[in-house]
Amino acid sequence: MTSTIVGIDLGTTNSEVAIVRAGRVEVIPVAPGARILPSVVGLADDGSLLVGETARNQYALHPERSVRSIKRRMGEYTSVQMAGKDYSPQEISAMILRRLREIAEAHIGETVSKAVITVPAYFSDAQRQATREAGEIAGLEVVRIINEPTAAALAYENCHSGARKALVYDLGGGTFDVSVVNLESDVVEVLASHGNNHLGGDDFDQKVVGFALDHLQKVHQVDARQDPLAMARLQRAAEAAKITLSDQPYATLSEEYLLEKDGVPIHLSVEISRAQYEELIEPYVAETLDALHVALSGAGLAVANINEILLVGGATRTPLVQRRLEEELGMQPRAEVDPDLCVAMGAAIQAAVIAGAQAPTVLVDVTPYTFGTSALEYFMGEMYPYCYVPLIRKNTPIPVSRSEAFCTIFDGQSKVDINVYQGEDPDALNNIEIGRFTIEGLRDAPAGNPLITTFSLDVNGILQVTSREKETGLQHSITIDNAINVKEPSLQAREYLTASGHGDRLS
Ligand code: AMP
Repeated sequence: MTSTIVGIDLGTTNSEVAIVRAGRVEVIPVAPGARILPSVVGLADDGSLLVGETARNQYALHPERSVRSIKRRMGEYTSVQMAGKDYSPQEISAMILRRLREIAEAHIGETVSKAVITVPAYFSDAQRQATREAGEIAGLEVVRIINEPTAAALAYENCHSGARKALVYDLGGGTFDVSVVNLESDVVEVLASHGNNHLGGDDFDQKVVGFALDHLQKVHQVDARQDPLAMARLQRAAEAAKITLSDQPYATLSEEYLLEKDGVPIHLSVEISRAQYEELIEPYVAETLDALHVALSGAGLAVANINEILLVGGATRTPLVQRRLEEELGMQPRAEVDPDLCVAMGAAIQAAVIAGAQAPTVLVDVTPYTFGTSALEYFMGEMYPYCYVPLIRKNTPIPVSRSEAFCTIFDGQSKVDINVYQGEDPDALNNIEIGRFTIEGLRDAPAGNPLITTFSLDVNGILQVTSREKETGLQHSITIDNAINVKEPSLQAREYLTASGHGDRLS
């Protein structure tokens, strides 16, 4: 019997382990409901070793006996201290690898002694060697070290075939890199790579923390920076708010009894809109786009030579990142394979191929169509009531739920019509209208009264659209049973075009 070779993504922030079983790629759960192991180790009060979530939890309070981001030190002849004792970066990484090995062994019920481990494309020989040593310390023979963008491309490989050039844009928690890869008959070659290994989703969190600190200063005249426990709670709340803002137009940071001022408890409750958040992180996103051009010129290629963009790393779920990439490169980035898991999946695919199996396919359920609504916006130089606003983009994995905020146009507007379309055209009337409804009885408010519209698409193609008045919670919704198969021409398009004297467009 050949033993299983596992694929491991040993990340700066998070790590994962995956295998191929019965032709399917599986990322192994590290705990019930979780497939991501934070790359943090620590020693508990009683001296026992903590790896993953527990170590991450103790980090804020006991940094002296916790270590994170060890990947940044790999290949250096240095040591890090944990509870007063010195460890090499390899030894710390080995603690993470050993935990992943144990998790894999428990899952498959056999000993695991071999692994494929991924590293960034820019890793030097010394850094690769250190990764190999970490594997050995953890009892793993590292049968191959592969580049992360290569692994990501392998996870996507079977979704597409033929020779092509891809940009792998990897924005994790603490690192960013972009690689230009050439894909040709099962061979993935990294042509150029560029990045910043101190830029990532954690920086986005810091911006949100800063936003909350400013609020505390302004409203409560307190500085929370001196209170480590309050800061740890703020960090958590900021990350949660950031993640909410990937799908929702608003998020609230709410922490009761966050701290005290002159013996009086202070509760934090502050809302941040996606627009405010995007303004805060825009400079970081711009920096990644600059790096992308550096990588492209390093590969001697122009934007026009790129066939696809593959998104890797949890922070690529940020809508601003996807939007700016699409604007910059003129194509929708691919995000079908879970960006947190795709490198581990690619490592497992490589491991299976080394073990002699046929390259398996990563299967994901995606929506074949884009769904959205319409709004009054500028379109070709004039205000137009049917500008298409896509909420769920084509090729998004399902189930999925996405929300956007819209505002009333008139003072005292008491109702809003919501139209639901399937299609890609910026003019909603060129898309297929699959439903509509009216939300009535809105509060008497000046123009700009926000409504939140949510599109939820399930695996059976059932689309639920809800619109809710933000201030009152008044809501109305419709369910479209077979949203993926509707093919009717748009009745509303006919009505509008006829009434507005553009009936000639109906031919
Ligand atoms: P990774 O290192 O690839 O695991 O990415 C981790 C980073 O992705 C962290 O900064 C997370 O907060 C961030 N992240 C995870 N999910 C989301 C999301 N839905 N929207 C934005 N950032 C996310």
